[in-house]
Amino acid sequence: MRFDIVTLFPEFFSGPLQVGLLGKALDRQIAEVHRTNPRDFTTDKHRRVDDEPYGGGVGMVMKPEPLFAAVESLPVLPRREVVFLSPQGEPMTQSLFKQWATETDQLVLICGRYEGIDERVMHLVTREVSLGDFVLTGGEIPALALIDGVVRLLPGTVGKTASLEADSFEGGLLDYPHYTRPPVFRDYAVPEVLLSGNHAKIAQWRREQQLRRTRERRPDLLSDANLEETDGYERSRHS
Ligand code: SAM
Repeated sequence: MRFDIVTLFPEFFSGPLQVGLLGKALDRQIAEVHRTNPRDFTTDKHRRVDDEPYGGGVGMVMKPEPLFAAVESLPVLPRREVVFLSPQGEPMTQSLFKQWATETDQLVLICGRYEGIDERVMHLVTREVSLGDFVLTGGEIPALALIDGVVRLLPGTVGKTASLEADSFEGGLLDYPHYTRPPVFRDYAVPEVLLSGNHAKIAQWRREQQLRRTRERRPDLLSDANLEETDGYERSRHS
């Protein structure tokens, strides 16, 4: 899978793309990330990428010509999406990441800066996506979050796919709590059931924890969750 980041700050990505599972996945060419700077496509001697807004007002706006030229310089793979990172977009979700990880060959990620981009750039864009209901100084952090979340789902990035299946949002529920050694730390004990070796009981406890956490923290998820017959008691008790 190919990612093309269109950004005024290509150096922003250098560290994060090298570390952890993401860095390893890119080393192993599970995905490739390319960076393109619209400033390299300016034609004036000051290499301007921004200008004042028509109609007045504070802040600067990213000019359309360098952004169009940058995007049009990129190769076009068959299943391609051109994404504008924007607080006005649809929220990033695990299901969107899954869809991209399985159905897309190329994601072009346009990172805005200043007050945003000239609206005509939206003619290039197939999807507008937000990291959340807050405003950042640029689209680079959302682009990085998107790349991390999608690459993580590509085959080969995470060694044991079972660990993906237990994650939050898989099946529509939040993850259960995790513990490791020692069994007691500062008087805080690991729940007895996890030390019992009884796999059926452990699975049941984890499922109950998932349902409880989801009900307490994100009840909005429950209506779309893949609930099982055996969850009936939890569902009626907590709904
Ligand atoms: N004036 C814009 C608005 O209110 O929608 C915000 C501009 S923001 C200061 C500059 C750029 O940061 C945006 O064009 C966008 O690319 C990026 N950005 C800021 N917050 C974001 C978010 N929550 N999700 C995705 N991108 C964001």
